[in-house]
Amino acid sequence: MTTSPDVVIIGAGLAGLACGRHLADAGISFQILETSDGVGGRVRTDHFEGFLLDRGFQVLLTAYPEAQRTLDYQALDLKKFHPGALSWFAGRLNKLIDPWRTPGGWREALNSDFGSFFDKLRILRLRSHLRNSSIEKIFQRPETSTKDALRSAGFSDEFIHRFFRPFFGGILLDAELKSSSRMFEFVFKMLSEGDTAVPAGGMGAIPAQLAALLPANPIRFNTHAESLRENELTLHGGESLRARAIVVAADAPAAAHLVGEAEPASRSVSCFYYSADEPPIPRPLLVLNGDGSGPVNNFAVMSQVAPSYAPPGKSLVSVTVLGTQQLTDHQLSGFVIAQMKNWFGPVVGSWRYLRSYRIPHAQPQQYPGTLEPPQRPVRVRSGVYVCGDHRDNASIHGAMLSGRRAAEAVVADLAR
Ligand SMILES: Cc1cc2nc3c(=O)[nH]c(=O)nc-3n(C[C@H](O)[C@H](O)[C@H](O)COP(=O)(O)OP(=O)(O)OC[C@H]3O[C@@H](n4cnc5c(N)ncnc54)[C@H](O)[C@@H]3O)c2cc1C
Repeated sequence: MTTSPDVVIIGAGLAGLACGRHLADAGISFQILETSDGVGGRVRTDHFEGFLLDRGFQVLLTAYPEAQRTLDYQALDLKKFHPGALSWFAGRLNKLIDPWRTPGGWREALNSDFGSFFDKLRILRLRSHLRNSSIEKIFQRPETSTKDALRSAGFSDEFIHRFFRPFFGGILLDAELKSSSRMFEFVFKMLSEGDTAVPAGGMGAIPAQLAALLPANPIRFNTHAESLRENELTLHGGESLRARAIVVAADAPAAAHLVGEAEPASRSVSCFYYSADEPPIPRPLLVLNGDGSGPVNNFAVMSQVAPSYAPPGKSLVSVTVLGTQQLTDHQLSGFVIAQMKNWFGPVVGSWRYLRSYRIPHAQPQQYPGTLEPPQRPVRVRSGVYVCGDHRDNASIHGAMLSGRRAAEAVVADLAR
């Protein structure tokens, strides 16, 4: 039996790192055990042939309160997407303008044939309603599916199909928009109150910043927590650890295994990266599949958002396919390229496949009911705590917030 610090945290994702950060602030000693070889969990960036490849397309919404509270945005050197989006339907790319952030955008937005006049009016109403609602209030509202909420708000099926389905389907990893309306409203509020950005050094710079603030050497990498009985932990290889408190900061399936809870369903996603000689669109905008045919849900030229994502003279294209699909990378990439050639023509001939990521558990499924109560308890039993996006909501904000909540519970209990 090895002697341990006061607290052992299982998992060096955003939740585990945030938990460690708050324990350190409270002067409590801890060690983090991480099964992989690095920090970040689902938020990691690989360096490959001069490109920065995030493990799955993802972005930081700068309005997230917990990110604002915990991260140093300036040091992250955040690079922003242009507001608005492009959506492919009717054989062309159609621009959805964000009139609040586009100089002269109101006239263009009203004249655009993307969405009816009433859809635009309803966007205005929804935005103003959500900006005037607190996050706490949003997560207490009666829930329905995102699609039903949009229909009840009066949006046309066409606008839902061409905009909300690919846009929020890409965020919630749910093309059918069955996810909780609470999550939709939270994300909509965050999008309207801040920027959509990535750090110049890749999304992995976020956990790296959190890890750099921890006391020296708190993380044991390549260390897998196999089982947990009472507050005694057995590691892969047989080593046992005991601590005054154990915080399980693993992803939902791993946490369920360790604490003996039912495993929640997962949302999965695949991401394909290509090197291109030139970007197929002129500006750093998110591009959506608004007609719904073909495997691609959305794509972005990451090097237009942050030039550091690609070596000089090259562009990095990130393509998101919802689910993990049955096809091989080669087969799926063939369908992706065929779809992109249909959208952009011969310029796609220069695209070179770099790498793909299949992520079976990208987010816990958040259908109505799963966010009730909005913050699930972090205390499991005496001496055992749980945090992670499955305790709050599936986002960078939710993961970090749950880490702080677990740390606060540990601090309070250890002081008794
Ligand atoms: C492709 C993709 C796109 C996303 N897009 C966005 C987005 O745009 N914006 C947004 O806000 N959120 C997004 N998310 C969600 C967000 O990334 C997650 O909600 C958040 O990172 C979860 O953090 P976590 O710490 O709870 O879990 P994780 O990041 O999963 O961390 C858990 C850690 O525990 C470790 N671990 C597990 N089991 C064990 C064990 N037995 N022993 C030791 N270690 C263990 C894991 O290796 C991992 O490092 C996205 C997620 C994915 C995958």
